[in-house]
Amino acid sequence: MNKIKIGIFPGSFDPITVGHEYIIHKAAEMVESLIIGIGDNSNKRHHFNIEKREEWVKKTFENYPNISVKKYSGLTIEFAKKENSKFIFRGLRSTIDFEYEKQIAETNSFMDENIETVFLLANKKYGMISSSIVRQIFINNGNIDPFTPKAIHIT
Ligand code: ADP
Repeated sequence: MNKIKIGIFPGSFDPITVGHEYIIHKAAEMVESLIIGIGDNSNKRHHFNIEKREEWVKKTFENYPNISVKKYSGLTIEFAKKENSKFIFRGLRSTIDFEYEKQIAETNSFMDENIETVFLLANKKYGMISSSIVRQIFINNGNIDPFTPKAIHIT
């Protein structure tokens, strides 16, 4: 049987940062097809709407044929199953990320032990970048271009 290796990279991308971009390229080297899942959970408040968040992620990776972008709502593990993905990629910046992500990964593995969470370490240069800090700079009229992918310009 010809089974291709699929992985998902789920997140809010509110907005996408160079930190996400770096990890996504690393993950895309490890699978044949990487699906970026943009979470659209109504219980989570987002600054940028789902259409904008999706548009920027799509533009960032438009020239990478093995990277695609999909919106999803509900549980990440269900999204992974629906997409026939064996892997959930997540990025780690710190031990704080690790403790939080470990709990989620263990819960997901309890729900479906055939899907593995794979952690990739943040690039040292980008370890301090988070969407929430980028939002704060944006809201206060600072220049966020150094923190967001070169292919996009958030206005
Ligand atoms: P979520 O709301 O699901 O945490 P985010 O969009 O904030 O979504 O993050 C998605 C993933 O990207 C998470 O695994 C997060 O740890 C990772 N990530 C966020 N910022 C960085 C960064 N600067 N470097 C590496 N990984 C990052």
